[in-house]
Amino acid sequence: MQLIRGTTQLLGIIGHPVEHSLSPVIQNAALAHLGLDYVYLPFPVHPENLEKAIAGFEATGVVGFNVTLPHKAEVLPLLSQIWPAAQLVGAANTVWRTEAGWNGTNTDVEGFIAPLKAIHRDWSQVVPLILGYGGAARAVVVGCAELGCREIRVAGRDREKLENFEQSWKNTPLADPLSVYSWDELPELVSQTQCLINTTPVGMAPHSNCSPLSAEVAECLSPDAIAYDLIYTPRPTQFLQQARSRGATIIDGTEMLVQQGAAALQIWLQQPVPVDVMRQALKESLGKS
Ligand code: NAP
Repeated sequence: MQLIRGTTQLLGIIGHPVEHSLSPVIQNAALAHLGLDYVYLPFPVHPENLEKAIAGFEATGVVGFNVTLPHKAEVLPLLSQIWPAAQLVGAANTVWRTEAGWNGTNTDVEGFIAPLKAIHRDWSQVVPLILGYGGAARAVVVGCAELGCREIRVAGRDREKLENFEQSWKNTPLADPLSVYSWDELPELVSQTQCLINTTPVGMAPHSNCSPLSAEVAECLSPDAIAYDLIYTPRPTQFLQQARSRGATIIDGTEMLVQQGAAALQIWLQQPVPVDVMRQALKESLGKS
């Protein structure tokens, strides 16, 4: 634990709830390693207090902060500049102070892509299939486009929500590559994809024995495919166990969590950050829980 002094600069995360967040563990480990006079704090902010909280940060000299549920979209109108990743996703998870006011971006996109970049693939030939159409799915769609995927498929269980999701990309560069499918089309879709991504919370602890895929549908997955679960606890999830038993390459949500945090810290500090230290701190923290 670094010593907090009168000079200590403030970083943090706002959310409601925020108690579950692992970001303080990851970020403070990096700050301590760098020996910097900064601290990263959890700020529980009720939705009705969002504007007041940001005004308070302005007044108290907070350098920057992460944003988690339910504020990721609601924070946008309170920013003076929204960077392209946040604009496309429609949500910001990282905010920093500038002379002209708060700037915001979405480092979930960068975090999501990081472990995929480490796997050699011609992404222009990969047609990813994304399960779910919630907040995280939006960052995943943008990430897949950034990787170079020319067609991106999203499957969801509610037709109306699926159509709303599709509509929300209208007039963006993502409208063309994106297509949506209903859940009952999964057997065929899963057999066709080279990269299957779970963005639903199905299988997250304590419901660890659940998977978004039935045993029959999981059997459709190609052994050459990548299976990526955004969930980081348990490791591996039931979904990733199914994929592993098919011979697929599996990725869990820990690296995304670390890399989105590293990208945020780099923005705040404007210097390289110790990703290995952040990864280790997360692993130790997850090991304890
Ligand atoms: P969200 O906005 O609530 O979206 C969840 C999505 O999952 C919705 O589309 C929902 O559809 C769908 N879903 C829920 N239960 C389902 C079921 N039984 N069958 C099919 N679809 C179902 O949540 P989120 O913020 O996107 O987060 C999703 C997951 O990603 C969470 O587990 C979260 O921890 C994880 N995540 C990880 C990272 C990371 O850094 N690793 C970052 C962000 C999120 P309906 O609306 O129809 O229910």
